[in-house]
Amino acid sequence: KTQVRLDRFLADAGAGTRSEVKKMIQKGRVLVNDQPASGPEQKISPDLDRVLLDGKEQTEAPDFLYYILNKPAGYISATEDSKDKTVMDLLPKIARRNLFPVGRLDKDTEGLLLITDDGALAHELLSPAKHVDKTYYAKVKGVVTKEDQEAVKNGVDIGEAKLTMPAKLEILNTDGEYSEILLTIREGKFHQVKRMMEAVGKTVVYLKRLSMGGLVLPEDLPIGQWRMLTTEERKIIK
Ligand code: URA
Repeated sequence: KTQVRLDRFLADAGAGTRSEVKKMIQKGRVLVNDQPASGPEQKISPDLDRVLLDGKEQTEAPDFLYYILNKPAGYISATEDSKDKTVMDLLPKIARRNLFPVGRLDKDTEGLLLITDDGALAHELLSPAKHVDKTYYAKVKGVVTKEDQEAVKNGVDIGEAKLTMPAKLEILNTDGEYSEILLTIREGKFHQVKRMMEAVGKTVVYLKRLSMGGLVLPEDLPIGQWRMLTTEERKIIK
């Protein structure tokens, strides 16, 4: 990637104005890869070099916004709806411009939803060719068996032209009436998890998305709450 001047990088990272960051550099408050910066004109690679200001790592201001939401049931995964509340209603008003949810969870589905204004990333994550794994936790009516596991691994008939792509079904437990499972799929067909379980004779009674392409729903993110992705999380999905 291209190199940039250190003073420009720091100003873009929000450390201060161009003249303020020049002074910070001259006072020796800025380290590049643990060495004092040579001057404001020093060239750095934002992706490769580690820049510290007073010991605190500086990162490029993101071009796009990325929110992770723990979606509650009862909200539509869309930017607008004529009768129902949408997931956008859960974000701060100021952040709503141009943002959209990446893919859809059913109204009654909970869990991980990425909301962004980064159209290229959304395209990457949703493209069937990219094979991004999505893992769901589900509670289903019925006893899920090894045979169901095999069927899901081989692909099941959900009424489409082709069988579903190979998917991974893990059985967490069963009480004889209901079972708890994890299902990891790469496609994202309409109601796919529900239809796949229906194909093996089980009805989903509760569904929650736990992860998407390495991005994991944080355990400490309460239902209905959002936070911005961390730099680490952005690196995982980009
Ligand atoms: N599969 C479903 O059936 N519903 C969802 O919301 C997501 C995946």
